[in-house]
Amino acid sequence: MIYQPPVPLPGEHAASIMYRYFQMTRFTKFETMIKSEYNSKLDSPRRLWQPAFLMLAESFSSKYSLARFIEKYTNITDYSLLLDESVFKDSSVESMLNKLSGFKFHNALNVSQDVSWRYCPMCAREDDEKFGTTYFHVVHQCFYKRVCRKHNVLLEKSDPYHFSLPPLGTESVAASASDMKTEAVLSSWVDALKEIPQEERKIRALNLIHQKICIFSYDRKNPYHVQRVQYVQNRLAKRFNRSHFMAYFEWGALASGLYPLNSVIGLMGFLDPAKNFHPMIYLMLIDLFLKQDELDLSMQYSLASTKAIERVPPVVSPIEIEDLINDNAA
Ligand SMILES: [Zn+2]
Repeated sequence: MIYQPPVPLPGEHAASIMYRYFQMTRFTKFETMIKSEYNSKLDSPRRLWQPAFLMLAESFSSKYSLARFIEKYTNITDYSLLLDESVFKDSSVESMLNKLSGFKFHNALNVSQDVSWRYCPMCAREDDEKFGTTYFHVVHQCFYKRVCRKHNVLLEKSDPYHFSLPPLGTESVAASASDMKTEAVLSSWVDALKEIPQEERKIRALNLIHQKICIFSYDRKNPYHVQRVQYVQNRLAKRFNRSHFMAYFEWGALASGLYPLNSVIGLMGFLDPAKNFHPMIYLMLIDLFLKQDELDLSMQYSLASTKAIERVPPVVSPIEIEDLINDNAA
C-alpha cells in the first residue's frame, strides 16, 4: 500500500499518479524508487501489469474495486482485449496479475504506440492551467490511438529514456483526415469486440477469418492450400504495407524470417488460436477481412466446443479465388 498517494486527476494513468507520488518523496530518481520500492519498471506503457499498480490500487480500495481501478487507471483491458482465456486460468486476481506482469506477446510486429508514453501538447497546456501540473492520460496510451480526440492533434512521444510528466510548450501537429478515419475505424472495432465475452473474442474473429480464407487445417503438401494461402497472404502484405496502418507498427522477427508474410506459415501462424500475438495484429487482420455486421451475425450462434477450430457455423462466404488472382495481378 502507498501512504497518501496524490488524488488521481481525470483520466490519469497509474504510472502518472506514481510519478506525482514520487515528487513528494525523498527519492531523487523516479526509476530508482519504482525499482527498489515497488519492483516495477515504468519505461513504456507496453507492459500489461506492474506490481506498483497493485499497491496503488490498494490505497484506493475504499473507493474502487481492483477491477474498476484496472479499468479506469491502466491500459490492461486494451492489451488483454484478445488474450486467450488460458492465460487467466487459475483464479486469484493477484496470481493472474502476476502472470500478466511477466507476459509477452508472440513477436511479429513492434507497435509504435507501445514504445513510449504519449501526451497531447494541448491537453498538457490545459491540464497545467487547470490542475497546476501536466499528467499522462490513460486514453492517450491506447496502442490503437495516435490522435487526441478532444483536440484532433497527433499525440507526441515523451522521452523513452527518462520517465517524467509531459513537457509544456511542445508544438502540436494537426491530425489529417485519414489519421482520424483510421483512428475511428480501429476504435469502433475495439468497441465491437468489447461487446463479446472476453474468452470468445479471438476465437470468433479467427473463425470468421478462416471462413473467408476457406482453409481450416492447412496442409502444406496440398497445392490448392498452398496457393490459396499464398494469394491471401500477398493481399495482406500489400494492404498492411501500403495502408493507413503503417504509422502503427513495424514488422518484427518471426521464427522463419524477418518478414512474417514471406513464409506461408505467416498468416496461418497469426490464425493459430493457441498463440497470443499483439492485439494490434488481430485488429488489422479483422479490419482487412471482416465487416462489423459479420461479427454481429456470428453472435447468433453460441460456440460449440472449446477446442475445435470450426466452432462458429458458417456465417461469411469465402473470398472468391478470382478476386484473389486479380488482386495479385494488380
Ligand atoms: Zn488533447
